[in-house]
Amino acid sequence: MTIAENVLAVREAMAAAAAKAGVSEKSILLVAATKTNSADRVREAVAAGIDAAGENRVQEMLEKREQGAYEGVPLHFIGQLQRNKVKYVVGAVELIQSVGSRELLADIAARAAKLGVRQDILLEINVGREESKGGVLPEELDELAAYAGSLGSVRVRGLMAIPPITDSATYFEQMYHFFVDITQKRYDNVSMDFLSMGMSADYPAAIACGANMVRVGSAIFGPRS
Ligand SMILES: *Cc1c(COP(=O)(O)O)cnc(C)c1O
Repeated sequence: MTIAENVLAVREAMAAAAAKAGVSEKSILLVAATKTNSADRVREAVAAGIDAAGENRVQEMLEKREQGAYEGVPLHFIGQLQRNKVKYVVGAVELIQSVGSRELLADIAARAAKLGVRQDILLEINVGREESKGGVLPEELDELAAYAGSLGSVRVRGLMAIPPITDSATYFEQMYHFFVDITQKRYDNVSMDFLSMGMSADYPAAIACGANMVRVGSAIFGPRS
């Protein structure tokens, strides 16, 4: 299968899941998780009609951007962002999906203020309480959202999670609950536009639970070496 054929197949599965959930397929964004794939391969995915490219590592992102990999689509940062690399990412990507601590949020806001830009972000929740993963614990979400709302140089656009692969549907349901809850609380500078969850193994299940942004890697590019 080519990358273009894979993108088509993912789109079809997204459309089927959207129809089942009673939402328009157009309301769900396909972010290609491009880590380890060359600029040429990313360009193939862009040509095949992905909605955005999501990169994990800063160095890889800078190299591939230099090679024109992302031209034609918005670029998102989706990996764990080290605080000393914030300067390379703020203002350079449309959306930082993986903001899961007060310290990182403060650094992003300070950098954005310095550049005179407003950086769109998602708040990442460690919904499965896994030590290996980033994100705030669910009970810390309100405080982080309120703090984000007090920072004029960032705008929270939604929530993101990487749940445990086993029993992910249960975690997707929890995420939808948090999404609705934060929406209703109407914090300043917080607009709950995106619920980013679901990867190759489980994006249809995520869509069934209300995801409107899925991050798909291996189902588009094949297994990573
Ligand atoms: C790699 C990655 C994905 C996609 O994973 P696949 O299982 O290959 O679809 C999604 N989100 C993040 C944050 C990733 O790092």
